[in-house]
Amino acid sequence: MKDPVRIVLRSGKDQSLRRYHPWVFSGAIKKIYGEPADGDLVKVYSNQDEFLGIGHYQDGSIAVRILTFREENIHEEFYLERIREAVLARAQIGLPDDRGTNVFRLVNAEGDGLPGLIMDYYNGTFVLQFHSIGMHRHRELLVKGVQEALKNRLTAIYDKSAATLPSRYANKYKNEYLFGGPEQTLVLENGNQFQINWEKGQKTGFFIDQRENRKLLGEYSAGRKVLNLFGYTGGFSVYARRGGAELVHTVDSSSHAIDMANQNMKLNFKEEARHEGISADAFEFLAEHNEAYDLMVLDPPAFAKHHHVLNNALQGYKRLNARAIESIGPGGVIFTFSCSQAVSREHFRKTVFVAAANTGRRVRILHQLGQPMDHPVSIYHPEGEYLKGLVLLVD
Ligand code: SAH
Repeated sequence: MKDPVRIVLRSGKDQSLRRYHPWVFSGAIKKIYGEPADGDLVKVYSNQDEFLGIGHYQDGSIAVRILTFREENIHEEFYLERIREAVLARAQIGLPDDRGTNVFRLVNAEGDGLPGLIMDYYNGTFVLQFHSIGMHRHRELLVKGVQEALKNRLTAIYDKSAATLPSRYANKYKNEYLFGGPEQTLVLENGNQFQINWEKGQKTGFFIDQRENRKLLGEYSAGRKVLNLFGYTGGFSVYARRGGAELVHTVDSSSHAIDMANQNMKLNFKEEARHEGISADAFEFLAEHNEAYDLMVLDPPAFAKHHHVLNNALQGYKRLNARAIESIGPGGVIFTFSCSQAVSREHFRKTVFVAAANTGRRVRILHQLGQPMDHPVSIYHPEGEYLKGLVLLVD
């Protein structure tokens, strides 16, 4: 293999790499010695020519995603070892567990030292989502890695990256099975059953990151009237009903999602679901209902995908939370979330504070929530902490 291209950073732009932050932004680069192609390995140096790290190059705002801060050879074994480490870390908390939970995230990009790679496991099927060309160029090797690590648990591998890779590269690829086919689509999460459609569904098919928060919701559900807003395929709804809810309403603007939510409730509770799926705009629905519910879930899509739309996003969260706090019945509990990477925990909490203050009701925080262990965050890469939630008690 030819020697990696050298990239030298501007003076002062080495600081974040010295603190192990794994991204080099294009604006930090002073000079590139050579002509790296998208996905090539490059070595990064400070303005004083000190070695900083090795990573995948890609023409774009994030120009290099660092794989290692040590001078080492990046070969097959490097990727395989990181996959083995990821498998081991999940095994330590009992994932997968065929009697309880056989859906989980095996590789969480930067959080597992594999920037640009998501690997989600659905009871035998891996759904891979690549966010960098460098990782995608290794997809056969990565497939070999999971085959080796989970051989008797693997029935299929589906690559769903057509929309997550730059189009100049992705137009040569389509979403496809790299191994096996769409046979087993039923998964178990904390003993609950879900039908997953990774081909048509959002993200890799399911919001795996809410597993522990759904479990907590179940604990608050006995005897309550539950409204699951932005409910997608009914994840929170199933737990609410399992926890003894009196009734559960799931609202989502996507009728396909609502069909699946109805199906998942039926799968778990047959004729006893006490559930209604409603295909509607969550803001409009909330505007029309007063004191009809005493447990609510607000789990909207990322309102802020980028920092420059942060203010609009915060307005959206404020409006949603204010209306929920205003309209929930006495003694009501609200599970409210933000999955926007650009909205910090502090931002979110302040926004919910302003929303609460506008209503004048007494509001207390019962829990502060985040993402589960199979979505680890590197302490050096705070951007990896995207999911934050609050559980509010409204008197
Ligand atoms: N809570 C879900 C995930 C929610 S994802 C789970 O645990 O699985 C966000 C959902 O919001 C998507 O399903 C999307 O279809 C829906 N959505 C987006 N905008 C909406 C709106 N204005 N009103 C209702 N639903 C909306």
